[in-house]
Amino acid sequence: MINVEDIRKDFPILSRKVNGKPLVYFDNAATSQTPKQVIDVIVDYYSNYNANIHRGVHTLSQEATDLYEQARYKIQAHFNAKFSHEIIFTSGTTHGINLVANGFSSLLKKGDDIIVSALEHHSNIVPWQMLCERTGAELKVIPMNDDGELVMSAFDKLLSTNTKLVFTNHVSNALGTVNPIEYIIEKAHEVGAAVLIDGAQSAPHIKPDVQKLDVDFYVVSAHKMCGPTGIGALYGKEDWLKKLPPYQGGGEMIAEVTFEKTTYAELPHKFEAGTPNIAGGIVFGAAIDYMNNIGFESIATYENELLEYATKKLLEIEGLKIYGTSKHKTSVISFNLEGIHPYDVGTILDKLGIAVRTGHHCAQPIMDYYKIPGTVRASLAFYNTKTEIDLLVEGVKKAKMMLA
Ligand SMILES: *Cc1c(COP(=O)(O)O)cnc(C)c1O
Repeated sequence: MINVEDIRKDFPILSRKVNGKPLVYFDNAATSQTPKQVIDVIVDYYSNYNANIHRGVHTLSQEATDLYEQARYKIQAHFNAKFSHEIIFTSGTTHGINLVANGFSSLLKKGDDIIVSALEHHSNIVPWQMLCERTGAELKVIPMNDDGELVMSAFDKLLSTNTKLVFTNHVSNALGTVNPIEYIIEKAHEVGAAVLIDGAQSAPHIKPDVQKLDVDFYVVSAHKMCGPTGIGALYGKEDWLKKLPPYQGGGEMIAEVTFEKTTYAELPHKFEAGTPNIAGGIVFGAAIDYMNNIGFESIATYENELLEYATKKLLEIEGLKIYGTSKHKTSVISFNLEGIHPYDVGTILDKLGIAVRTGHHCAQPIMDYYKIPGTVRASLAFYNTKTEIDLLVEGVKKAKMMLA
């Protein structure tokens, strides 16, 4: 069970004021807040053992290297990867997707298909469009329905032996829908296609088991799961990572360099050119520890309770419509007030100290589907409370009164 009052004490930012009101932070799907236990690790790194890794003989470098590699083991354990070299440090989800898309440039040709879902973040659309332009492969889209769910019968029809890659997010950041990735992975593998899952939005709520899922690639960002910005991880099956060419050239990623020929380093270093985000990697490990100490099952149970409560309360407001009404959802609520622009609602809420996101949430195709310019999105985390939800509901009522 979650003791939310205790947990809130871990997050210094939650006691600040915004516009004279206590902060109510409901923009967790954009970035999560950072607990003291994690902030302390950043301070410890720069205070005590800041050094470049892997190349140094001196003590600081060895300490930093050990801790950086330990973080890789933590991420491996968290995702249940078979090998630690299947975990590649990236700057985040976007980097991970681009790394894979770039790698597939040399493996695709005209006549091949790539399938993405209608629920994607722009970072899981644009790199594949670029890949299609480079290779002549064709991009196909799994459609969505009014509840914001993917239509699996349409997916079945899109699949063929031409399908080489399938990409979808595990959880939609705009609507909160949890996609049936088990089914998608199984069906894609039946035609020999590889599957990349964008886990940016699932990682704060669901602990995935990449071996059980049998997924080929799974990408996450640390900043959505209590970690810092600018660091993330790509899980890739060993076979695939061996097959893909390196993404960037530079130091760290080579075995031997002459002007005639360069041989690449073994995994994972083949994909980690240059000095990495050393502090970020170590701190990502600390964030995973923090969340595992609370426990993903407790987090999911509590967030679900918050989601149900908030959904019920918000729907009591006349003229409020929620987008994304799947039974399988994480704690994201996208909504609009009839006849009122989401931006105006967001601005009034901010005056009340309530942080929500407004706009298309980097998912314009979803907004086009619903024929709306955007939504107000309240995304809840395990450190939020029902009292905060009451404040949101009061704020939305106030906005409605002022703007109607
Ligand atoms: C946040 C997010 C991304 C992008 O993550 P970055 O950290 O900005 O690279 C991609 N996909 C989904 C579903 C997201 O929520």
